[in-house]
Amino acid sequence: MPSDEEFQRVVRRFECLRVLASNDQQRIRQLSAEILEQMEFLGAKGYQPNYRCCLTVAAMTALPLLNRKLHWLRDFRTFILYEESYSAEFTKVDEAGVVHRGRHLRAGEAWHRGPVVLAMRDVERSGQGTGFNVVVHEIVHQIDYLNRDPDGFPPLPDSISSDDWAKHFKAGYERLQHQLDHRQKPWLDPYGATNPAEFLAVCSEFFFDLPIYLRQQQPDIYRLLSMLFDQDPASRLV
Ligand SMILES: [Zn+2]
Repeated sequence: MPSDEEFQRVVRRFECLRVLASNDQQRIRQLSAEILEQMEFLGAKGYQPNYRCCLTVAAMTALPLLNRKLHWLRDFRTFILYEESYSAEFTKVDEAGVVHRGRHLRAGEAWHRGPVVLAMRDVERSGQGTGFNVVVHEIVHQIDYLNRDPDGFPPLPDSISSDDWAKHFKAGYERLQHQLDHRQKPWLDPYGATNPAEFLAVCSEFFFDLPIYLRQQQPDIYRLLSMLFDQDPASRLV
């Protein structure tokens, strides 16, 4: 179990943790201890993450799980941490059948039944009230992977009907695509328009990091995410 002092040092640096009620902070601390015990944290490219970095990742991972269980993490057990944003090779075939290869700078990625890869530099700038949280993003991909392909349709609690989920996520996704197609100011980070899985991951970042904005822009998506995570982050800010 991290000492209260060690834990508070992490909490103070992230708005999304600072705004939690103290009993919720204590549950994050407990979940973080379990995550640190159950998961492995590996450094990449010679980076050796210290305890504080691992605790930071564990605490951010615990945020979406706060009122759910750790079994959401059952399909993976490894975090791979880079110090800086890292580059990853990609291969893409365009509509004309031309193969493009290149390198993208990445803040994080999640593999099916595989590791979650994170750049600590991007973890450190997560959860500051700007709508960015790379840890929440990758953990939500892992939750999305639990039932089938990553498709923006994670296992839903009984309280959510799949029609309700499909209808409102589709509407929010199409609204974003329409705005981008018509060069209007997008309501969400344009990365969310990549595909429905990215849309869910980016909406979840906003849910924890800009909850009042998300509730105002897409009340039904906010409501559904509140039910999925069993949390109401907007209420923490009033
Ligand atoms: Zn993603």
